[in-house]
Amino acid sequence: MTNYVIIGSSAAGISCASKIKDLDPTSNVLCISNETEMPYNRCLIADMLGGIKTEQEVSTKPQSFFDEKGITLRLNTHVISIDNAHKVVITTTGERIPYDKLFIGTGRSSWIPTLPGSTAAGVLAFYGLRDTKNILDYLAANTVKHAVVVGGGFSGVECADGLSKRGVAVTLIERSPHIFAHQSNADGAQTLTGIMNKHNVDVISNDEIITIQNENNVVTGVTLKSGTTLATDLVVFAIGGKTNSDITDSCNLTMHGRCIVVDEHMRTSDADIFAGGDVTAVPSILDRQLIQTCKWSDAVMQGMIAGQNMVGQTPRSYGGILAITSTHVFGTTFVTCGPVVHPPTEYTQLEKRGEDFYHLFLVQDKKLKGFALVGNVTNVGVLRKAITEQTSLDL
Ligand SMILES: Cc1cc2nc3c(=O)[nH]c(=O)nc-3n(C[C@H](O)[C@H](O)[C@H](O)COP(=O)(O)OP(=O)(O)OC[C@H]3O[C@@H](n4cnc5c(N)ncnc54)[C@H](O)[C@@H]3O)c2cc1C
Repeated sequence: MTNYVIIGSSAAGISCASKIKDLDPTSNVLCISNETEMPYNRCLIADMLGGIKTEQEVSTKPQSFFDEKGITLRLNTHVISIDNAHKVVITTTGERIPYDKLFIGTGRSSWIPTLPGSTAAGVLAFYGLRDTKNILDYLAANTVKHAVVVGGGFSGVECADGLSKRGVAVTLIERSPHIFAHQSNADGAQTLTGIMNKHNVDVISNDEIITIQNENNVVTGVTLKSGTTLATDLVVFAIGGKTNSDITDSCNLTMHGRCIVVDEHMRTSDADIFAGGDVTAVPSILDRQLIQTCKWSDAVMQGMIAGQNMVGQTPRSYGGILAITSTHVFGTTFVTCGPVVHPPTEYTQLEKRGEDFYHLFLVQDKKLKGFALVGNVTNVGVLRKAITEQTSLDL
């Protein structure tokens, strides 16, 4: 009977475990998570922050799912290293858990940078369910009229949206020249910034917090690099997740930066260790460059493919990732795909804009190479197909 161990019980880990049990029902499958809550959908936590969804509504799998599938779920268990020479994973308590095949789906998690004042009450992070509950608890226990949100990426803008729905005025601080610096050109970001301003959210770009002020160890304000000071009741760091790959330091896997490199079967450089989801770097289907996975659906697909290949029946390959990102915030939708931040000079840039919408299309020889859309996004499916299949398109 094969012993499968899965580290991380989210999109990638659960789909991997589930696939293994479908194909090898008599196996032992152990899913380990360092979180205390049952699995949930990270994409929905901003809705929970904004009061649109309850904790129950963001939860994905109840205990009955694991019982029915015959998967053992261990919460609150943190793996600190992998001893691949002896095929065991080691937890913080010193427990050594043996495996025949191992899957790493440890994704990313929140972090707060070490700054003067960053340990004060009211300095929180936003990336997971525990973070969301911490913010909601703080809002319930304190009068919070104004919050500073640090980070103008997806999690920062979604966090600002959630807080604004709770009636909190927000100032969002972004170190880059504009929000969505890794996903959008300046004009697309500016259109969204204008919409955010109408929802009582100020955006300060090209700046960063250097000190957090507190009184009796409770946050009262921040000082920015530019010298600007802001009084505030809450500071939330939503600066993207830290990739959870430290556990691989001991086992010499091939890495791409902090991400684990996998082959088309989601196998790492160790034949008995597979990986998937946000902790991995996989080829982009646009140019075959390695990029970090960052979407729920890609993590699910990679976990399923890894599971199938771990069982070792019919091999299944993963074709690569289309880096398309989207979010619905402040009553509008933002979608971006392809090299819109630094478009190659040979691409023609077609723009359409209005007060609350912006469309950018990158085109070469009538073929779509990328797009950024704010506002009306009804034809994303068509655009996505046009990019992946490189069919001619009249725009
Ligand atoms: C605010 C927000 C909004 C998002 N919105 C969208 C969206 O709209 N659409 C979309 O496609 N994607 C979205 N994403 C991204 C999406 O959530 C991720 O791509 C997806 O969660 C990745 O899944 P994963 O299984 O790889 O890792 P994760 O979801 O990061 O889960 C990894 C799990 O492993 C656990 N873990 C880590 N290290 C250890 C360890 N050493 N021992 C034990 N357990 C460990 C973690 O605690 C966690 O439970 C969003 C993300 C955030 C933060």
